Amino acid sequence: MTPVLEVDRLVKHFPILRGILRRPVAWVRAVDGVSFAIAPGETLCLVGESGCGKSTVARLVLRLDEPTGGAIRLDGTDVTGLDEREFAPFRRRVQMVFQDPYASLNPRLKVGQIVGEPLENYEGLRGKALEERVAGLLAKVGLRPEGVGRYPFEFSGGQRQRIGLARALALNPKLIVADEPVSALDVSVQAQVLNLMMDLQEEFGLAYLFVSHDLAVVEHIGHRIAVMYLGEIVEIGPKQVVLDEPKHPYTRALVAAAPIPDPRAKRDTLVLEGDVPSPLNPPAGCRFHTRCPFVMDRCREETPRLREVSPGRQAACHLLEA
Ligand code: SF4
Repeated sequence: MTPVLEVDRLVKHFPILRGILRRPVAWVRAVDGVSFAIAPGETLCLVGESGCGKSTVARLVLRLDEPTGGAIRLDGTDVTGLDEREFAPFRRRVQMVFQDPYASLNPRLKVGQIVGEPLENYEGLRGKALEERVAGLLAKVGLRPEGVGRYPFEFSGGQRQRIGLARALALNPKLIVADEPVSALDVSVQAQVLNLMMDLQEEFGLAYLFVSHDLAVVEHIGHRIAVMYLGEIVEIGPKQVVLDEPKHPYTRALVAAAPIPDPRAKRDTLVLEGDVPSPLNPPAGCRFHTRCPFVMDRCREETPRLREVSPGRQAACHLLEA
C-alpha cells in the first residue's frame, strides 16, 4: 500500500546570520537525515525532548518551512520543491491541528466562519450548502450546531480543540499533522480529545503525524513511535514494543522517566544526566554519546546507523549491532 506520507532523509539546517550583509556564520542542524513512512489510517508519534527537531519535521511536512535536503512524498508523489500553484492539489490532503487551541483560532471570526472558510475557498460552497456542511462537521466533533454563531473565547480549551479538528476535517484530508494537540489541555479533557481523534481516524481512515513529548499520550493514541534526539531518529517501531522493551539507551531513559500507573511494575532505572547538546555543534559520532552511560570509544567517532533490531523495529546504537 502506498504510504500517505513518506519522508526520505529529510534535512533542515537554519542559518545563523551575522553582520550588515547577514551572512551565515553557523548552521543549526535541527533535522538531519530523518526518514519514515505513514500508512493510511496509521498514527506515527514523533517523540523526544524539547529541541530534538520533532516540531521542525512537522513544519516541513506542512510546508511551513522549506527543507534543506531530502524528500517529502504525499501518496507517492514527491512534493519537495513544488511551488504554491503546483502544490495546490495536495494542500487539502494534509491539514494541521495546533498545540494551543487559544491561539490557533482567529478570535474575530465566529466558529461557523472558522470551520466554513476552507469550504468556501476550496469548494466554493455558499449559503445553505455551506451551513449544512459546517453543522455536520461540528456534530462530528461533538459540538452543538448553535455554536456556529459564537466566538472562540466562548468555548473551553477542549471545545476549541474540537473546533480546530472540525476545521481540519473540512476538506477530507488523508493526513493530519498534530503538534502537541492536547498538551495545553487539562488532563481530564486530554483523553476526550484523544478518543475523539481516534474515532475520527476510524471513521475517515485518517493518518496522523502526532508530535508529543508525553509518553502517556503517545501510548493512548499511537500505532508506531519514532524517537528523535538532536535532529535524528534513534529508534522507531510499533508502539507497545518500543514502550515495553525500549532498545536504544535514550529511549530507555525516556521510558524510565515517564510516570507509570502501576507502581509495582518492573522498570528500567536508567537516568539521563546533563542537558541536550546544542544543535549548532552536535557531538561527533553518536550524538547521544555525551549523555550515554554505555558510551564506548567507538561511539565518539563512528555514527551508528538505524538498523533492524527486531521485526518492524529499528534502532541506531553500536551496542545493538550483532
Ligand atoms: Fe550509547 Fe554508543 Fe549506543 Fe550511542 S552508540 S547510544 S553512545 S552505546
